[in-house]
Amino acid sequence: MTISTLGDQTLAAQLSALIRDVPDYPKPGIVFKDITPLLGDPSAFAAAVDAIADADWGGIDKIVGIEARGFILAAPVALAAGVGFVPVRKKGKLPSASFEVSYALEYGEASLEVHKDAFAPGERVLIVDDVLATGGTVEATVDLVRRAGGKIVGVAVLMELSFLDARTRLTAAPAALPESDLRTLLMA
Ligand code: AMP
Repeated sequence: MTISTLGDQTLAAQLSALIRDVPDYPKPGIVFKDITPLLGDPSAFAAAVDAIADADWGGIDKIVGIEARGFILAAPVALAAGVGFVPVRKKGKLPSASFEVSYALEYGEASLEVHKDAFAPGERVLIVDDVLATGGTVEATVDLVRRAGGKIVGVAVLMELSFLDARTRLTAAPAALPESDLRTLLMA
């Protein structure tokens, strides 16, 4: 199986130096990957956006960003790729008719929504987020995009927490994404 990556080792090193580990946030035992130093560096931010937008996805019609940090990355990727942006939002934030999915978090549940008319049938969709942890959020987003008629051509993230093995989850049902469609700039 091929593990696709984005960018190169030089870019990975540049980005890695700008992602800060914050221990015990938001709760004890979690090491939070803080991307705000990266967002504050225009050359690194642009390089990360371009690496995602310029990769060969076989054609993209829409970029999906996941609230909230996903929006920060996905919107400039959409502009750089010259395609539209679609927000996947937390429950109760979207104004028009929406599909909803509930999924399990480490403690409790969360719900995400997308507008029912966000995609024309069969539109090719790239999902963008900052950090891939357990994969639950991306799995829920995959479900929403498919219900709304989109075809997923890839998932791009800045950083993948490889010890949580989201790849195994996302390449199995229900997401069943090809491993080659999961691409990351940095493995942690
Ligand atoms: P996941 O476990 O893959 O569903 O992650 C849920 C969401 O929380 C993702 O959109 C990530 O942006 C965020 N997230 C999870 N773990 C971390 C972490 N250690 N540092 C920063 N963000 C995280």
